[in-house]
Amino acid sequence: MGKSVLTIRLDDITPDMDWGKFERLKAIFDKYGIKPLIGVVPDNQDPKLKVGKARADFWEYILELQKDGWSISQHGYTHVYDSQNGGLLGLHRFSEFAGLPYEVQFDRLKRGQEILQSHGIYATIFMAPGHTFDENTLKALKELDFQYVTDGYASEPYKRSGLTFIPCKISSPKAVTGYDTLCLHLNHMSEAEMEELHKFLGNNKDLVVSYAKVLDEDFHKEYNDKIASEEEKALRARNKRKNVANDTVMQRYLQRTYSEKKWLKQIKRILGLPRLMVELLIRKIKK
Ligand SMILES: [Zn+2]
Repeated sequence: MGKSVLTIRLDDITPDMDWGKFERLKAIFDKYGIKPLIGVVPDNQDPKLKVGKARADFWEYILELQKDGWSISQHGYTHVYDSQNGGLLGLHRFSEFAGLPYEVQFDRLKRGQEILQSHGIYATIFMAPGHTFDENTLKALKELDFQYVTDGYASEPYKRSGLTFIPCKISSPKAVTGYDTLCLHLNHMSEAEMEELHKFLGNNKDLVVSYAKVLDEDFHKEYNDKIASEEEKALRARNKRKNVANDTVMQRYLQRTYSEKKWLKQIKRILGLPRLMVELLIRKIKK
């Protein structure tokens, strides 16, 4: 087994995001000297991402973060999903890019790039909204001189269509094997989740690194059949986990056996098993 590296990305960075939560997260990163990757939406039109008061010095502040060693990526263009295509990874059935004609995609990417550049930000990393992109997206990115994509479901970075993919498979802190990126949506993070991250970083100082440190490495491995099948397997396992999470019987079980106290939760989970079995059985008979 090769080395294990975990880095961090923050999605949905907009002038009107939840700055209170951002500052709270930044303090945690500062404590451990970690500089994450941020995904800046060039011209956000997605109402779901407008959660607070817009920061007037937004672009100056982003440049400041960059000067401080944070990595910047272009997170789409307007963050509006007007395609129902799952793209190459198929993690979601919505996209700002996948499934649309090359010219439309190129135009959106270029407009986004121009906005960032007008503020002095020259991003070579692309962060696809919804993790959705297709071959045309990659072609347009290459044409626009992008070098990296923060996505991929393999255990190590690979090159595809002339771009380097840095894997991004997890959305809650956990020890990983191989290369991975923890994807955080700060607008939705609870205080408990912030505290969990805080503890995790304290306990995994050798594992978690700044994004720039990963970019410093040279990755040459081309996407091949072996990587493709590894990626497929990981995606299947992920979809299975997601199905459990979306299952109403399972959800009710997890809710009624939940406790803030870990030991109590474990006991409740075990004691709740017979009822879960009965409910699953009833559902099976009804079908
Ligand atoms: Zn997003």
